[in-house]
Amino acid sequence: MARVFTSYACLGHAPGLPEQPERLAAVLRRLRADPALEVIEAEPGDRDLLTLVHPGPFIDQLEAAAASGLPGGEEVPLGAASWPAILGSAGAVAAAVASALDASRHAFAAVRPPGHHAEAARAMGFCPVNLVAMARALARRSGVERALIIDWDVHHGNGTQAIVESDPGTRFISMHQHPHYPWSGLAEERGVGNVFNVPLPPGLPRASYLEALWQAIGAATEGWHPELLLISAGYDCLAGDPLGGFTLEPEDAATWIHRLRERWPTIPIVGLMEGGYAPARLADGVHATVRAMAGP
Ligand SMILES: [Zn+2]
Repeated sequence: MARVFTSYACLGHAPGLPEQPERLAAVLRRLRADPALEVIEAEPGDRDLLTLVHPGPFIDQLEAAAASGLPGGEEVPLGAASWPAILGSAGAVAAAVASALDASRHAFAAVRPPGHHAEAARAMGFCPVNLVAMARALARRSGVERALIIDWDVHHGNGTQAIVESDPGTRFISMHQHPHYPWSGLAEERGVGNVFNVPLPPGLPRASYLEALWQAIGAATEGWHPELLLISAGYDCLAGDPLGGFTLEPEDAATWIHRLRERWPTIPIVGLMEGGYAPARLADGVHATVRAMAGP
C-alpha cells in the first residue's frame, strides 16, 4: 500500500517559470484520476520541523524574505505565498515519514518547492529548505539509525550531501548530469565514505542510467542494511525535460521502486518530489512511482 501526502498551500508559491504551480497541479490531477490511489492533504508543518535541519537565524531570514518578496537565496524567488508553501511541504513530508514508520506503508510527498539544493544555511536552485534532510532527521528522532537517501533528480543533490556527508548513519546516492548545475557531485566526493555520486553525461541510452543507479545502490549498501529508504524523486531526469538531458522514462522510476521492494521487502520507502519541469511528464513520473509503491 502507498499513500500520497500533499498540501494545497504548495500551489500558492508562484516564482514563475520553470518551478511553477502547474507542476504540482498536473501531478495532483493525474493521481486523483486513478481511483486506486489515496491523496491526503496533510496538516501544515511548523517551524520546529525546519529547525531539525536549518539554524534559527536562517529560517527567520527566509520568512522575512518571503514576507518582503525578496529572494531567499541564489535562484530562490519568494513571495507572500511562499512561507505557507514551505510549511505545507514540510507538513506533507512529515506525514509521509510518519505513515512509513508508524504504519509501514510506503508514502510519497507530492510537494513543492523542491529541497535538495538547500544547504543548512543556504537556499539555492529553487530550494528554500531541504525536505529530504528533514525527513532523515525526523526518522532519526523515531529511532531509525540507518537511512539510505537515493537522489535521482537530474541535478546533483548538493544541499543534501552537504548536510549528511559527515553522518555515517546516512548513506547518500546521487545520480546526476555532469557537468551541469550546481556543478558539484564528482565521484571523488565521498563524505565519510557515505556519499556515492554517479555523475553522467546527457544523452546516454536510458538503460545506462537505469543500471548505473542500481549499481550505485548495490555498492552503497554492501554489508550495510538500511532501515528506511528516502527518495529525492526528481523527474527532470526524464527524456524531454527542459532542464536536463537524461533519457529516462516514467517506467524506469517504477522499475527502481520494484527492485527496491524486491531487495528490501520489509523496509518502508518515502518518496519526495524534487525537480521535473515538463508538468505532464512530471505527472506521469510521479504516477508511475506511486503505482509501483502501491502495487503487489
Ligand atoms: Zn533537478
